[in-house]
Amino acid sequence: MRTHEAGALHGDFASLRPSWLSVPEDVNAILPQLWSGGVERAEDGVLHIGGLSVEKLAAEFATPAYVFDEDDFRARCRAWTEAFADADVFYASKAFCSKAVLRAAAEEGLSVDVCTAGELAVALAAGIEPARLGLHGNNKSPAELHQAVAIGVGRIVADSFQEIERLEAIAKELGKRPNVMVRVNVGVEAHTHEFIATAHEDQKFGFALADGVAYDAARRVIAAEHLHLLGLHSHIGSQIFDTAAFEVSAARVARLQAKLQADFGVVLAELDLGGGFGMAYTTQDDPQPPAEIAASLRKIVADECAAAGIDVPRLSIEPGRTLIGPTMFTLYEVGTVKPVTLSGGASRLYVSVDGGISDNIRTALYDATYSATLASRASAATPALARVVGKHCESGDIVVKDEFLPADVRPGDLLAVPGTGAYCRSMGSNYNHVPRPPVVAVRDGQARVILARETVDDLLRLDVG
Ligand SMILES: *Cc1c(COP(=O)(O)O)cnc(C)c1O
Repeated sequence: MRTHEAGALHGDFASLRPSWLSVPEDVNAILPQLWSGGVERAEDGVLHIGGLSVEKLAAEFATPAYVFDEDDFRARCRAWTEAFADADVFYASKAFCSKAVLRAAAEEGLSVDVCTAGELAVALAAGIEPARLGLHGNNKSPAELHQAVAIGVGRIVADSFQEIERLEAIAKELGKRPNVMVRVNVGVEAHTHEFIATAHEDQKFGFALADGVAYDAARRVIAAEHLHLLGLHSHIGSQIFDTAAFEVSAARVARLQAKLQADFGVVLAELDLGGGFGMAYTTQDDPQPPAEIAASLRKIVADECAAAGIDVPRLSIEPGRTLIGPTMFTLYEVGTVKPVTLSGGASRLYVSVDGGISDNIRTALYDATYSATLASRASAATPALARVVGKHCESGDIVVKDEFLPADVRPGDLLAVPGTGAYCRSMGSNYNHVPRPPVVAVRDGQARVILARETVDDLLRLDVG
């Protein structure tokens, strides 16, 4: 058996906590960078959003629930559209897709990206004009392509040669000429603080820049009588903090665009640099403000276009998580609390909540980090190293892997996990037949359900036996 690394630090947290997580001076503190603008801990110690206490929200809507700060979402949308006033900002709806959220994004001046008939249906139900939609995906069905062309979706991002052929046939049949972008696999893999620039990227999306594949795809779209090549598209990853990765990808697509212009005389109107802008999940993350990102992308694209000898195309970007992620927290009720002592004597408090991997799979799937706070009261107890876990039959069912919570956290307490607006409800499941939580929106101090709680009856309705 391996001796425990704690060594002389028996009973200390040092061996168990990750190096970035320090013991908080005030375990009740609400760090503004991790929460939406409307959240604060009030005088009575209870977490409030838009002036409403989480106790009141839990009494009215039950737990678990995603609580959405709609004022904050709208403010973030405005910050991005103002910073990118000379560009088009598409909200990547896969991060979180509901009628109310898409409508709010459109009202604040954004366009919307969808990648399936399901997301498209929500956007249409929200009243978004098809011309303000973009359609993505590496395997759009012929029916999805047909619908997109028929209703006049503003841009279709082509992802394979078969798709270009299908689009041409559909457009011809319908007598239309849709705007098509060619997704370029630029050989830049970006994750959080690092990126790798290679000649080839081993993944399913797009046309490889290498070996002239993307060039060939663009050539085919240019040659297709019923397709209009709007521009090139690249999306290099997610949770990116460093614009250097965009610099490499922009340089590569600009060079391709210059070559297309030289060879075919086409001037491509737009350049889409995709999404992936990072947000703060924990104190490790320090995202740049949108105005800084805009200034640096604008400069990168201008420099690269000058170097490539082409005019600067209109820019578009597709943020998802940075817009919606910070605007929600998940409100849970604590069910059981179990101190687990490990060999070496150090101990970790396992705090079980009434949800888990079914409402937030990101921790298990991506090793994502989150934070948590005791929401229904402030506590004078010392901080204990805790792990917030769910109720599912799976030891990997972890919501927050490492966090300090007051040592007196107990059954019946409410716990809030911030930063759950992106890829939590949208990646939710019914594992263990747990119905998915509702989304409760708070705007102007009023709470309303925008996505209803699923019930066991909903699940049984599909079980036709
Ligand atoms: C996922 C995705 C986005 C959004 O990514 P975020 O990390 O949520 O900003 C944008 N564009 C494309 C093509 C995507 O696949």
